[in-house]
Amino acid sequence: MRPVSYSRVADVATAIGTVAADPGSAFLAGGTTEVDLQRIHVSRSRRLVDINDLPLRQIEELPGGGVRIGALARMSDVAQALPIRRRFPMISQALLLGASPQLRNMASIGGNLMQRVRCGYFRDVVAPCNKREPRTGCSALHGVNRGHAVLGTSEHCIATHPSDVGVAFMALDAVVLTQGPGGQRQIAIDDFYLVPGDRPDREHPLAHGELVVAIEVPPTPMASTSLYLKVRDRESYEFALASAAVAISLHDGTIDDVRLALGGIATKPWRARRAESVLTGAPATPETFTSAAEAELADAIGHGMNDFKIELARRTVVRALRMVTGDPQLHDGMAEGLLSEDGSGPADGSGPADGSGS
Ligand SMILES: Cc1cc2nc3c(=O)[nH]c(=O)nc-3n(C[C@H](O)[C@H](O)[C@H](O)COP(=O)(O)OP(=O)(O)OC[C@H]3O[C@@H](n4cnc5c(N)ncnc54)[C@H](O)[C@@H]3O)c2cc1C
Ligand code: SF4
Repeated sequence: MRPVSYSRVADVATAIGTVAADPGSAFLAGGTTEVDLQRIHVSRSRRLVDINDLPLRQIEELPGGGVRIGALARMSDVAQALPIRRRFPMISQALLLGASPQLRNMASIGGNLMQRVRCGYFRDVVAPCNKREPRTGCSALHGVNRGHAVLGTSEHCIATHPSDVGVAFMALDAVVLTQGPGGQRQIAIDDFYLVPGDRPDREHPLAHGELVVAIEVPPTPMASTSLYLKVRDRESYEFALASAAVAISLHDGTIDDVRLALGGIATKPWRARRAESVLTGAPATPETFTSAAEAELADAIGHGMNDFKIELARRTVVRALRMVTGDPQLHDGMAEGLLSEDGSGPADGSGPADGSGS
């Protein structure tokens, strides 16, 4: 048995001071990731500092149309908040398509951004894993990697980032507000997530003891008709195989402006900037959408079992763009036709049929 101490703090300064002073400590929010990882000995924190009493639960409208979400706001509360549903439906949809109602009632937004990867080798303490134990190797490279990433990978790690709402935040240029031993910082979401490179153990630029206090989403008028499309092995309680968060502004059938980010296929929530540049100024047609998807996936690398994800991601991008532009040939906006009936890959059968998860 490994003893773990627990304390509950009531103010931000004490929370930061307590964790910063002890390298073996960690913040505890909803506990839906941290407690799991403690149980399987992946997280080895000796001290858990419960931050649930901190005054960080508010969801506030900002002047000009943005919104500020306290780091301890629950996923379910954020999903239901009126300013989120009206101005940023992709955030609400991404949250409601994640986890289960019980988990969403416990899990905080800050904890969601900080959640760890679902790679089976990361969670199996006897398997070599560079993320858990630097310089031990990556078991997934030649192992069971059906759920792993095809973009942003390195020879040291190919784990997919699991957050759904992180993908919506990425499309919306959200900013992560932190407070730590070194003071306050505002970190653009794209800089908040690091690709693995040769340091897969570093996922964020945060110092030990640096607390996420809020996420700010800037005003984005076109996001009021945005959407989040999630493709997965079953229709609930499952992580994404591929997902897309998209907002678009059209003028006479031409794309004025667009935001597109992808999930389930990359080592961090993935802003699809190449696709955005193909789309901007082009006619909103299926042909344009296909070119945009191909441009974004041009450098994608499969590792065997997950090769099918490259085609799946292309189809997800095209489907999401057709949905958000109201393509009348789509029936009801769901993801049918993207996965084969056995869930192993695209409907044309080009994916593996092993059925193994990430
Ligand atoms: C069965 C299951 C299914 C799931 N499915 C999905 C899914 O489909 N989509 C999805 O997006 N997520 C999914 N999740 C993940 C879930 O959303 C996260 O576990 C949850 O959001 C984490 O929030 P928490 O408050 O419980 O964090 P905790 O578990 O308390 O903390 C997680 C980590 O973040 C750190 N932390 C927490 N808050 C802060 C803060 N404010 N500042 C700095 N560090 C902090 C903790 O120290 C810890 O390392 C699933 C989880 C489970 C268990
Ligand atoms: S993919 Fe990353 S998390 Fe998974 S075994 Fe390799 S190094 Fe570890």
